[in-house]
Amino acid sequence: MRFETKAIHCGQQPDSATGSVVVPVYQTSTFQQQAIGVHKGYEYSRTGNPTRAALEEAIAALESGRFGLAFASGVAATAAVFNIVEPGNRIVAGDDLYGGSIRLAERVFKRYGIEIVYADIDDPDSFSKACNSDTKLIWIETPTNPLLKIVDISAVAKIAHQHNALLAVDNTFASPYFQRPLELGADIVVQSTTKYLAGHSDIVGGAVITSDEKIFNSLRYYQNTAGAIPAPWDCWLVLRGMKTLAVRMRQHEINAFGIAEFLESHEKVKKVYYPGLKKHPQYELAKRQMSGFSGMVSFEIDGTVDAVNDFASKLKIFTLAESLGGVESLVCYPPSMTHGFLSHQQRIDRGISDSLIRLSVGIEDIEDLKEDIANAL
Ligand SMILES: *Cc1c(COP(=O)(O)O)cnc(C)c1O
Repeated sequence: MRFETKAIHCGQQPDSATGSVVVPVYQTSTFQQQAIGVHKGYEYSRTGNPTRAALEEAIAALESGRFGLAFASGVAATAAVFNIVEPGNRIVAGDDLYGGSIRLAERVFKRYGIEIVYADIDDPDSFSKACNSDTKLIWIETPTNPLLKIVDISAVAKIAHQHNALLAVDNTFASPYFQRPLELGADIVVQSTTKYLAGHSDIVGGAVITSDEKIFNSLRYYQNTAGAIPAPWDCWLVLRGMKTLAVRMRQHEINAFGIAEFLESHEKVKKVYYPGLKKHPQYELAKRQMSGFSGMVSFEIDGTVDAVNDFASKLKIFTLAESLGGVESLVCYPPSMTHGFLSHQQRIDRGISDSLIRLSVGIEDIEDLKEDIANAL
């Protein structure tokens, strides 16, 4: 089966009890047992729920993995993966990451005696240098937030395996429609399903996908034991969103391209970050490992924070909000929103200037989006 068909059919057979074509919302905490220990595969909804099971099977299929596990948020999914590492071990992480992943590593997992070392994502060799014999996990994100840098997944996978470590990739920005890290050698994929997979800005959720049965079993044990599972209704909304992932992603990309090119030609714009632009320093790598460039565009406005504020306040269609990947266009100011936990100097060191603006380009009419931006600029 190909991607679009998988999205609609994998894990989503008509319901065996009633013939319902759509997977029902099994809004129940518990399941009848025919006799003690005799049941139909489900006992209690933290351990397993049919709506969640359908989502887990569908999401695994889209990421080309054998196993999927759904979590209550992308951060809960990330915590499940960090939890593979034992006290005294090291996680090597790319130095351009979702802020919540850094906070989780620094504020929670460090306290358990886990060492976190950051590697320069522009230089694959720095991952090798950062690994020691205690390194059990390499964690990367690509494209990155907010500068949309591209990390070479197969190069970093090779480095991880040379050091007997696992490679986990946060694939939220590309979605499995445009990028499938497991096919490129990664061991684990994490998704914030809040974003493109659900696609309508109406739930918070996460998922972990792997083809390694041992990793899956230990993550499933953790999922049931730590308990950060999504509710059946949220699982159902993600499943529904995923059915249209392919058509949405194609439109997100068309619109993002249009906006990126429009911004490039605008006199009030200093710099545009979009991996689909030939000028992007990793355009060739992006083309190699992704089948499209997704819907996120960042740019620097010609001016200071005042110019950013002025721009944001004049937008009528783009909504000022955190998050991304929904059908509606959003604008965000990374220096004080997603990356406000960094000091000014840390941000400047990472290339996040005070005039940086991030757009999650939605699937509205492209001319309306261009007019909105032109007017606000
Ligand atoms: C939003 C996001 C997360 C966290 O997911 P939540 O669902 O908000 O917990 C992780 N990684 C990336 C790249 C994200 O954009």
